[in-house]
Amino acid sequence: MNEQLRQAVDADRLPHACVLEGGTAEGRLKLAKELAAALVCKGDAPKPCGTCDACRKAESGNHPDILFVGPENGRKTLSVETVRNMRDDAYILPNEADRKVYIIDPADSMQDYAQNALLKILEEPPAYATFLLLCTSKASLLPTVLSRTAVFSLTPVVGADRDGETVKKAQELAQDISAALNSGSQTKLLAAVAPFEKDYDLLPLALEQLELMLRDALVVKAGGTKILSGADGTVKALAGLYADQALLSMVEAVEDISSAITLHANKNLTLSRLVSRLSACEQ
Ligand SMILES: [Zn+2]
Repeated sequence: MNEQLRQAVDADRLPHACVLEGGTAEGRLKLAKELAAALVCKGDAPKPCGTCDACRKAESGNHPDILFVGPENGRKTLSVETVRNMRDDAYILPNEADRKVYIIDPADSMQDYAQNALLKILEEPPAYATFLLLCTSKASLLPTVLSRTAVFSLTPVVGADRDGETVKKAQELAQDISAALNSGSQTKLLAAVAPFEKDYDLLPLALEQLELMLRDALVVKAGGTKILSGADGTVKALAGLYADQALLSMVEAVEDISSAITLHANKNLTLSRLVSRLSACEQ
């Protein structure tokens, strides 16, 4: 939890709707769960205390007032119906806590209709409800929705509070991986990943950048023009070479590996997994 969020939680003034953007999908979900636990916690500050009954339920995913909202029935998009059901549910008082927390993940899976349905709740939210919207970038949300939320960035899309040199290095390494993917050569992919044996600390940031490029390529394929990674040439090449499904599989691979970095310290295994997962996504 960053300082800004810490202060908001301590003062019990977390805005009723927050966008958590940037970082990895895993990182966003972890933060959302922590915030949700803090909101339902019955223990002492700093919240979440981690030991009260509410915290334990939150930890095990069984707190009745922490609700996860996402695409249903194997769909990729979060439907209007799901948003409407959430709205109906939001007007029912909390079960145990003073608050009810909705974790909408991924919020960028809501198309405009669904976002407009959400807007209706955000305009007149029940006093006890908090909505956490998780997404890669706030740019995927309608301006009207954004105007009703507070945005918190896990890591800047283009490194504001990071050392500029480090971000630049990570971007270059991510570009090298993209270029290797465009070449279709596993040898090149191995070579592009090799620098992380020495600079393993750069891997999370480089994977963030890579994910951004892959998502940009999906945007380009869908006819969009907004390239967030700034790597226009690489992104367009990816969009030209890979089908949507392959790009989505690569995004998934990058997210899986990103979350594995924190779970396992085994450097070589992580790197070889990255190579095999990415090269399994054929052009
Ligand atoms: Zn607690």
